[in-house]
Amino acid sequence: MRKFFTDNKQDLEKFGQLLASPKKIVLTAHQNPDGDAYGSIFSLYALLNQMGHEVYAISPTGHADYISWMPGVSNVINFQDDLERGRAERLISEANLIFCLDFSALSRIRDMGSIIESSKADIVLIDHHQEPEDFADFVFWDESAAATCELIFLLINRLNLSHLINFEVATCLYTGILTDTGSFRFDSTTPQVHEIAGQLIAKGINPNRINRKLFDQYKVDSLRFRGFALAERLTYLEEMNVAYFTISLEDQEKFNVEKGDTEGLVNYGLSIAGVVMSVIFIENEDLIKISFRSIENFSVAEMARNHFDGGGHKNASGGKSNLTLKETVDKFLKLLPDYQKSLLEQSV
Ligand code: 5GP
Ligand code: MN
Repeated sequence: MRKFFTDNKQDLEKFGQLLASPKKIVLTAHQNPDGDAYGSIFSLYALLNQMGHEVYAISPTGHADYISWMPGVSNVINFQDDLERGRAERLISEANLIFCLDFSALSRIRDMGSIIESSKADIVLIDHHQEPEDFADFVFWDESAAATCELIFLLINRLNLSHLINFEVATCLYTGILTDTGSFRFDSTTPQVHEIAGQLIAKGINPNRINRKLFDQYKVDSLRFRGFALAERLTYLEEMNVAYFTISLEDQEKFNVEKGDTEGLVNYGLSIAGVVMSVIFIENEDLIKISFRSIENFSVAEMARNHFDGGGHKNASGGKSNLTLKETVDKFLKLLPDYQKSLLEQSV
């Protein structure tokens, strides 16, 4: 399914008119931003700045270290920062145009959701998550897209603005596509994805350097924590084709775990031969954060949505639980027999 407002001539013209004169624009993406969320924000930040707009990037939360090098990040306003919130609220209320990027449920931007919903600005939604909510005036959405950054590349071309894809814009778009395709590994990696990546590389970006900045920046504590998690906190349920990690607050304290140190850990579960679903349960102060990953046709989005107050994509989803860590894992284990048939069918 896809919905491109640019396919409708009137909507395209209306949007073109909006961008034709200088506007106050707010860009935002989902909480705990990843490479695609920030790639989306900062590609448009660099692009719209070139067009003479007054552009502000507001994130519903802070970000992890691995994306802090991205061009434009130093300008981001963190909505959770008490010193910045007032300014962020004012900018949202004064904005003519708000871009909601890489999310399509307002709950994904926390307390910013209600403020944006009640703003008078025109809202542009660009996203690839399932089941979008209906809150935007212009929707550019395709759940089969590999990344929101892929959609932004297409949108830029639809608007005949590809001459504005400079080094910064290309770096951001490439980062979003790279991270959301699991380094060009997921099913979403289509010929078009590689063609777009090729066009971005042709703008002079350095894929090797981008990869190293994203993936080879561990602190030694963080790498040791991964070793610990793999050795001590990974359970492999061979009879179910399932692997899962449980990370307590105590574990995180012991290894000085910071935001982002658990990022990607869940994927290691899928590297075990035969594993169809990998899950990580991470204890936070207030709730248990869960990440699900799967292969082939096993939908972790369904599991996250129906049982763990979450959602996402077929092969990568997330959710949460207000139970204790142990109770959450027990709940998960009790569900598994219902999924066993499907889990055993998908193994390759
Ligand atoms: P992650 O496991 O990396 O946090 O999230 C993987 C994907 O699941 C994200 O791209 C996001 O779409 C989705 N996701 C994660 N947490 C939630 C959640 O609490 N609610 C919903 N609806 N989706 C989530
Ligand atoms: Mn994305």
